Amino acid sequence: MPELDRQHRHLVDLVNSIGSILFLEKDIAHCRQSLLEIIESLSVYADFHFSREEELMPTALSSLEEAMHRRSHEEFRRYLEEARLEAGSAPCETAGKLLGFLSKWLIVHIIGMDMRMARKYLAIESALPRDEAHEVHFESKTNETLLNAMAKLLDRFAEKTNELFEISRSLRREIDAHKLTEYELHKFSNAVEHSPVSILITDDRGIFEYVNPKFTEMTGFAFHELDGHTPAILKSGLTPEWLYDDMREALAAGQEWRGEFRNRKKSGELYWDHVSISPIFDAAGKITHYVSIQENITERKQALEELSHQKEFSEVIINSLPGIFYMVDVKGGIVRTNPQFLEVTGYAESEIAGRNLFDLFDGRNRLAFSEKMNEVFEKGESALETEIVTKSGMSIPYFLTNHKMLIDGDHFLVGLGTDISERITLQHELVHQARTDMLTGLPNRRRFFELAELELARAKRYGGLVSIMMIDLDEFKSINDLHGHQTGDRVLMKFAETCKRTMRSIDIAGRLGGEEFAVLLPETDMTQAFEAAERLRQQLARESIEVSDSVLAFTASIGVATLSSGQDSLDSLLATADKALYEAKRSGRNRVFRA
Ligand code: GH3
Ligand code: MG
Ligand code: MG
Repeated sequence: MPELDRQHRHLVDLVNSIGSILFLEKDIAHCRQSLLEIIESLSVYADFHFSREEELMPTALSSLEEAMHRRSHEEFRRYLEEARLEAGSAPCETAGKLLGFLSKWLIVHIIGMDMRMARKYLAIESALPRDEAHEVHFESKTNETLLNAMAKLLDRFAEKTNELFEISRSLRREIDAHKLTEYELHKFSNAVEHSPVSILITDDRGIFEYVNPKFTEMTGFAFHELDGHTPAILKSGLTPEWLYDDMREALAAGQEWRGEFRNRKKSGELYWDHVSISPIFDAAGKITHYVSIQENITERKQALEELSHQKEFSEVIINSLPGIFYMVDVKGGIVRTNPQFLEVTGYAESEIAGRNLFDLFDGRNRLAFSEKMNEVFEKGESALETEIVTKSGMSIPYFLTNHKMLIDGDHFLVGLGTDISERITLQHELVHQARTDMLTGLPNRRRFFELAELELARAKRYGGLVSIMMIDLDEFKSINDLHGHQTGDRVLMKFAETCKRTMRSIDIAGRLGGEEFAVLLPETDMTQAFEAAERLRQQLARESIEVSDSVLAFTASIGVATLSSGQDSLDSLLATADKALYEAKRSGRNRVFRA
């Protein structure tokens, strides 16, 4: 018997430990673990205790009582098993229910059934006759009614306990949430306190309630110096009043306001303050505070001003450049030009926007510019002489120098162009002069040889005919001697003019020196060449120039030769013609001889 009592006390301990799980355990996983351990102890208790009791039953109980008592034990085991299964998913609820069940079990089963059995057992043991022993049993019937009433009360108690647990759990959750808010609030105020921007808070009248250390650093005003003041303490008098009106109007309407003030620090130093103010409302929608974030933007403003000066400066330079200026992207898209560019090309500013610089070149020059553009992006710079085509279709020779520029990570080409029309004309003139005999306008000896060599090479390649004439004016020395050198020059000019008029356009005439000329006749055989020479000779004989009161006639002798298989070079062809010329001179002059 003392043994059974000890076990009952053990059961009471286990019931208490369920209670402490419910009240003290915050963590669900812990709650589950502790509950499963208690359920395990309860089932050890049941196995041992029930088997001890069941040994005593045949002595103390009738067979009906024994069956009821055993059923009660079964019910306990079944309940325990269910609790074990439910503990996994809902440990707290299961603990609450189990506590209710065990409290009831303690009263109904232990105080009721077990005690009754114990008393009967002790009566029988102490050798009371069986009937008296049964009386003991009937006496305790009254107790049983009382116990049932208590059991009902316990049911209600278990229900209430569960409700209380629920309330305690939600209270705990609320406390946790509150702690989190407190932590967030702390974090936030910490952030404001250490913010790199100035933050100030005023009440609804604009009187300072808080400034962060950055504000003090920026303005020089410590919080205690601002007591009773409004941010108007920062006014310099240099911000137009309408800006304050604008701010007050927006804030009064409950809107956020941003703007820039020219403010003054405690030290008197002026600075540019970028201000952003927001009204704070209470639950009723009434403004209670204003929060303002302020930033000293003086340096930024100065940098911007400097930049705009630089921009103006470069604008002036670009616009006053003596040539055309262009800036294009890597694809040639025009980004910027100067007024000279528009003037030269004839395009309006609106027409040039979105246009490609390649549009300003024709086929061959476009290809050349494209190559130079690649060179710029590879090597950094390039230059070329080209021709730009204006809107009206006119080509103007230009010298372009190009440079690569990197702006914000993008590459651009900037170029400057100078009109080289005059230089090109001069250059052409020089080339012409170098090739032409100035007196007669005919190709000079060097140029004649160049042209004649080309023609000869072509004739040889295609098996064509070529003939040549060597011409020498007759008795020219005496013309000079009799009429002067200038008259001689006029005769030379007359000869050239007649020659050009008489010969075909494909024929190449040149002055080889002095009064000696040559004419190369493409696609011409000996007979045709001879006829042409004869025609020229006769025409020359008909020409004359006026000399003081009379006219001066002159003649020429001509030797003709034709390209044959044996005569390969121009020199040998000319030598052959020269031989014929010599023959013509020897035969009395003013005649044509063939080789
Ligand atoms: P021939 O009939 O044998 O050819 O007699 P020629 O007098 O024409 O021959 P010659 O070679 O003796 O004389 C050529 C002259 O041509 C000599 C030179 O002073 C003159 N002469 C050469 N170049 C010029 C020139 O550019 N202008 C003038 N006015 N005379 C020139
Ligand atoms: Mg002569
Ligand atoms: Mg001569």
